[in-house]
Amino acid sequence: MISEVTLEKSRQMYEKAKTLIPGGVSSPVRAIKPYPFYTASANGSKIKDLDGNEYIDYCLAYGPALLGHNHPVIKEAIKAQLDKGWLYGTPTELEVTLAEKIAGYYPSIDMLRFVSTGTEATMSALRLARGFTGRNKFIKIEGGFHGAHDAVLVKAGSGATTLGEPDSLGIPADFTKYTLQAPYNDIEAMSELVEKNRNELAAVIIEPVLGNIGPITPLPGYLEELRKLTLENDVLLIFDEVITGFRLAMGGAQEYFGVVPDMTTLGKIVGGGLPIGVFGGKREIMEMISPSGPVYQAGTFSGSPCSVAAGIAVLDYLEQEKIHEKVNSKGDYIRAVLAEIVEDEGLDYSVCGIASMFKIFFGAEPHNYQEALKCDKEGYLAFFHRMLASGVFLPPSQFETNFVSAAHSEEDIEKTLKAYTENL
Ligand code: PMP
Repeated sequence: MISEVTLEKSRQMYEKAKTLIPGGVSSPVRAIKPYPFYTASANGSKIKDLDGNEYIDYCLAYGPALLGHNHPVIKEAIKAQLDKGWLYGTPTELEVTLAEKIAGYYPSIDMLRFVSTGTEATMSALRLARGFTGRNKFIKIEGGFHGAHDAVLVKAGSGATTLGEPDSLGIPADFTKYTLQAPYNDIEAMSELVEKNRNELAAVIIEPVLGNIGPITPLPGYLEELRKLTLENDVLLIFDEVITGFRLAMGGAQEYFGVVPDMTTLGKIVGGGLPIGVFGGKREIMEMISPSGPVYQAGTFSGSPCSVAAGIAVLDYLEQEKIHEKVNSKGDYIRAVLAEIVEDEGLDYSVCGIASMFKIFFGAEPHNYQEALKCDKEGYLAFFHRMLASGVFLPPSQFETNFVSAAHSEEDIEKTLKAYTENL
């Protein structure tokens, strides 16, 4: 058991951090109450804090670490690149190599551009969709998260047909008035919204699996129907695969479900754990991007050599070692055992997920944002702390996905499942 006392160094660091960094953290999800553990190092499936406590990690940096932490193949690729310098401000062969690989896996991507984060990827993709179509509105899914830029930070839950309201101070309502919301897994509501707005609608942007309130998976036929609807109404379909890209399969959710969007955004895994984002799509759309076309987009760190070198290394390794078969079957096993535990304990919880994504919902299985909100959030948070005290680090919210990596051993998983049994 990890007690308060053994988190003393983290507590002290938090006291100092919060005088210098708002909330003591560099991104809000990290602000575990009453204070987060501060990480000293991570290796494989384990993450270690300043007090020397070690946890089995299912947060995995919120998704990028599909191979676990500190993977030697990625590390070697980064080291080799460091010897040649790590930022040039000129194009490189590396980015052409990675672009070719990505385009080979994603049928929706003829051309792509590298950026530094998923946020930049969706921001640029939406600007491009608007530039390409000459229309301003787009639809996002209630509860879908596409990063922290103005147009997508819109409170979910408002009626599907009402215009968006910003979810943060500092965003003028004018900046989000073109952002419409539709509930996930509801093709009727989506059809109504698309048809009503079709002449002003540039795109529908969607996480094919809702990873930021779940995982919540698409009902059979939903993504196919959405593809049909957007095609019939001449609206671009953007899959935000920042989480699902290279996670569900090499070709992401579009390969897994066999649905090809017009544009795709990627991030997380494709940089091997270094900062990266990608947006890509059909040639005629992508050629609208500056300097080929009139839609402006730029970045000092775009295509950063170490990120790209790490990306090439990780993609080659994933393919050679058939990593998806392995991690996806670990995910299947974890979900099956968790379902048994929930049943044995007689809990009205549900086990959700797909491939290497899993979660116990403290409530009935949700199919959309509104249903997800009905779960017992506080109960989940207390459970999170019990798991942490048992040496298992889950993302600290009911609404963040757990990930399993290639580095998780059978022993890790059995220890984790035992902790679930004891702490649920
Ligand atoms: N899209 C999705 C689906 C995401 O999950 C995230 C981040 N969790 C983003 C975009 C934003 O990516 P980043 O944090 O790299 O800006």
